[in-house]
Amino acid sequence: TLSAVTSEVEEKQTFNPDKAGELVKELRNSFNSGRTKSYEWRMSQLENIAKMLEEKEKEITEALYKDLSKPEVEAFISEIVTAKSSCNEALKELRQWMIPQKVNTSITTFPSSAEIVSEPLGVVLVISTWNFPFLLSLDPVIGAISAGNAVALKPSEIAPATSSLLAKLVEEYLDNSAVKVVEGAVPETTALLEQKWDKILYTGSARVGRIVMAAAAKHLTPVILELGGKSPAVVHSDVDLQVAVRRIIAGKWALNNGQACIGVDYIITTKDFVPKLIEALKIELEQFFGKDAMNSKDISRIVSSTQFKRLAKLLDEDKVSDKIVLGGQMDENQLKIAPTILLDIPEESQLMQEEIFGPLMPIVTVEKIEDSFDVINSRPKPLAVYVFTNNEQLKKGFVENISSGGMLFNDTVLHVSISGLPFGGVGESGMGSYHGKFSFDGFSHKKAVLYRSFSGDSSLRYPPYTPEKQRL
Ligand code: NAD
Repeated sequence: TLSAVTSEVEEKQTFNPDKAGELVKELRNSFNSGRTKSYEWRMSQLENIAKMLEEKEKEITEALYKDLSKPEVEAFISEIVTAKSSCNEALKELRQWMIPQKVNTSITTFPSSAEIVSEPLGVVLVISTWNFPFLLSLDPVIGAISAGNAVALKPSEIAPATSSLLAKLVEEYLDNSAVKVVEGAVPETTALLEQKWDKILYTGSARVGRIVMAAAAKHLTPVILELGGKSPAVVHSDVDLQVAVRRIIAGKWALNNGQACIGVDYIITTKDFVPKLIEALKIELEQFFGKDAMNSKDISRIVSSTQFKRLAKLLDEDKVSDKIVLGGQMDENQLKIAPTILLDIPEESQLMQEEIFGPLMPIVTVEKIEDSFDVINSRPKPLAVYVFTNNEQLKKGFVENISSGGMLFNDTVLHVSISGLPFGGVGESGMGSYHGKFSFDGFSHKKAVLYRSFSGDSSLRYPPYTPEKQRL
């Protein structure tokens, strides 16, 4: 039955929204004590997170399986290993990140020295989503702690097993008066958003992103919004087709069955190349998931029946269902949808208008590959653009002419694993970024500090402004 396989939102009231003010007060008291600012506190919390990640691997993969039937290997690679490397980098680099950065001074301030001091913002809120419910909750918290803040995390109620595990683990491993997990859905989040925070990092849809930003504006609270959008993969005919196709599958179906913000939303290729591309996709999909992908253990299910119905409706639209070239099977009881490919569906269909966030893959064909610029630029700026080509001119054209959160050539998704690259969107796909030092910077204020001495005091700058001074 549905209830046996799904972990739909449970009606549990673990947090009383009336207590949101008290919660923030406790966090603020902890921050005001000065404790969280010290290097030692930050390191101790990070060390405890590292320990938790070592000791609780099994519980984490189990929770992810309950919430999404996420295959163990996929859960391990995409959530646990990534969280570990983020935590380890912070442990290794924190001392360096905290060192004030010297900058040049000018002749008008001589003698002086100047530096940028990174100071914690104070009490911050992280609101997370359900598709990578563990990583996307913990990773911003690692950044907030590294920067010396007190932090509240609100995981997604749509992944309840992971949400309650996070609450349990944070209580067990971290300093509870400075790091808290609040479980809940819209009422609880709304109550949290009414409070004054010093920064909010929100991951989720642009619709709720607007609610978060409006609530933050009341307190002049800055936000990082990690949103989504329709991220395309452009495939030129000059590619190594097998490698390109395997990497596209890895960035769509083998990544939470398409339920990923940086997953491939749709493909753009040329009319003459599309038959070869579809053939290669069919062959490699069968290699990955067998002849019957609906029964493959290596592919996640759809997270909830709400999401299942939304996807089913996208496929059901007029002039869409007859464009299926592969897949299309669905099982509502098991919340499963097969990898599905559609060719040249109408531009105005919902499938081409909204972010798909599931296993449906439309292919858009163009006369020549450069026409893909117009296809992408006629839409809101995506979180990622993937381009498969060996043509250096074409690569240059994409970098120069297409604006997106990130851009990756000849692969999918992996740009997010480079901690030296900021992860974040632009325009409709979000604002601000995190990962690696960008997380530390995102949760810090960069204070401008100038040191002067009492020597070299010139009367030139002071009144009375005599004609001699004016001539200077
Ligand atoms: P969502 O916006 O519905 O929910 C995310 C969070 O917002 C949850 O914690 C939820 O409790 C809270 N929330 C929902 N409604 C709210 C309301 N009315 N008021 C206050 N809080 C509310 O998003 P989702 O469906 O969980 O996620 C899907 C979207 O997230 C997609 O667009 C996807 O691309 C995006 N996403 C982005 C990233 C990224 O890192 N950029 C990662 C994953 C997902």
